[in-house]
Amino acid sequence: MALPLPTSLSPSKVSSFTDCALAFRFSAIDRLPDLPSVAATRGTLVHAALERLFTLEPGERTNAAAHHCLAAAWEELRLLEEFAELELDADAEATFTAEAAALVDKYFRLEDPTTITPIGIELKLEVQLGGVRLRGIIDRLELDADGELVVTDYKTGRAPGERQEQQRLAGVAFYSLLCERLFGRRPAKVQLLYLADPVAIISTPTDQSTRGVERKLSAVWTAVERACEREDFRPNPSRLCDWCGFKAYCPSFGGDIALADAHRVEQLAASA
Ligand code: SF4
Repeated sequence: MALPLPTSLSPSKVSSFTDCALAFRFSAIDRLPDLPSVAATRGTLVHAALERLFTLEPGERTNAAAHHCLAAAWEELRLLEEFAELELDADAEATFTAEAAALVDKYFRLEDPTTITPIGIELKLEVQLGGVRLRGIIDRLELDADGELVVTDYKTGRAPGERQEQQRLAGVAFYSLLCERLFGRRPAKVQLLYLADPVAIISTPTDQSTRGVERKLSAVWTAVERACEREDFRPNPSRLCDWCGFKAYCPSFGGDIALADAHRVEQLAASA
């Protein structure tokens, strides 16, 4: 029996499929819960603080205001199950908030938020491209001094090496394509702000990059369809396995893939 197709592709799903088709299946098709991660939760907190910062008037977006935003976002996050699942003790919790505060400070070394003209924050975009639904969330869409669109994506992990940089830029081209299809205008610039380093990776979308991402998305979707039809999602062991939360299901680590099947069937039965 064929596996059900995922409902959509997003930049993270494309990169997951490219890195390891089996991890993609566990996440996008079997919908197995991922392990809670301190780094991902810290990223959620910093994103929430910057989202709040851009609800303020331009002149009010100071470093002190950003820390107030961080404190307010922290009061909300600490009550969530996502945070409780990390099971941090008092020392680890203090490190968690201190590292989030350091990332907020480093953000100010990358740009001056008082000069930014946002037109959308945490913008959920969705378009149909041929047979596939594309979905993405843009951290910030803004207008530059010439009235051109600029897409900004915050990253709280380290900036990628040269090889991974190409993969990250493919994600950037994805955002650009979403904007072009929805707003009828190609962004003049897409920037990834790596707060930890801090460094900005900036890309200018072109006809060529747009055609390239369209081709890549079609190819990935065709490969996903074929893999679902044949129930053939292969593991691709790599350094990324160190961070993979699906080892209990992965044959490369002695896991049992049948547990993933059982989880999917249970979910289906519960939603029927
Ligand atoms: S443990 Fe490694 S090979 Fe297995 S699913 Fe995860 S990323 Fe893929």
